Amino acid sequence: RPVLDVRRLTKSYGIGTARVQALREVSLEVEAGDFVAIMGSSGSGKSTLMNILGCLDVPTGGRYLLDGTDVSRLDERQLSLVRNRRIGFVFQSFNLIPRTAALANVELPMAYAGVARAERRSRALAALKVVGLAERADHRPNELSGGQQQRVAVARALVTSPALILADEPTGNLDSRSTEDVLDVFSQLNDLGRTIVLITHEDEVAARARRVIRLVDGRIVQDDRMAPPVTAV
Ligand code: ADP
Ligand code: ADP
Repeated sequence: RPVLDVRRLTKSYGIGTARVQALREVSLEVEAGDFVAIMGSSGSGKSTLMNILGCLDVPTGGRYLLDGTDVSRLDERQLSLVRNRRIGFVFQSFNLIPRTAALANVELPMAYAGVARAERRSRALAALKVVGLAERADHRPNELSGGQQQRVAVARALVTSPALILADEPTGNLDSRSTEDVLDVFSQLNDLGRTIVLITHEDEVAARARRVIRLVDGRIVQDDRMAPPVTAV
């Protein structure tokens, strides 16, 4: 079964004549192990879709199954559980806890996900290793570059082994060098079998995904599978 099964999803804001239709019957399936970029200009509905996929908001109509669970009609408490256990979030602004070591930042979501205390440290270290920052475990966010901070945030997103890693403009605050580093980490995670959905308005970022979906005015107008990258020999 797909990790994401989205059927005729609609979302409108406001009431009466002030009503805005942000998503119009969006249907989408994402299989385990896929790497999807969602693109679109400002106002096309990317954030609205991201918020619903991330269980931060509920749709007005349609259905959304995440990893087999119908999350379109859960209450706030249940949505919070799904967010903590099944989704790893990466944000544009990193959202690390300041003055707190990288290791502790990565350990935190495991507390919410119910991982036994004894396991948290070793799993956090393993996640930092995956993003190439094991030797920075004791560094605080302000002692790390933007790209390194975002890699810590990626480690935090993957440490609970979520069904879905959801990234909202993850390279939006990074220079081109750090952007490459972070995208390399996403590619590596995807090669390890992680399912990734990333929102971006940058073509170079979307080019690293396996599949590119384009939104215009709340509708999917394009859904392209990318040719596999040519491996250098
Ligand atoms: P994007 O992330 O692609 O810029 P959004 O999902 O933020 O697009 O917005 C899609 C449409 O929904 C826009 O017309 C926007 O103005 C409207 N919209 C988004 N959030 C709200 C809200 N909270 N209240 C009213 N309208 C909203
Ligand atoms: P961006 O940097 O892409 O604008 P933000 O960092 O502002 O995104 O976060 C987007 C929204 O997600 C905010 O409303 C924030 O409160 C919420 N948020 C941030 N971190 C988490 C988290 N770990 N789990 C759930 N919601 C979160």
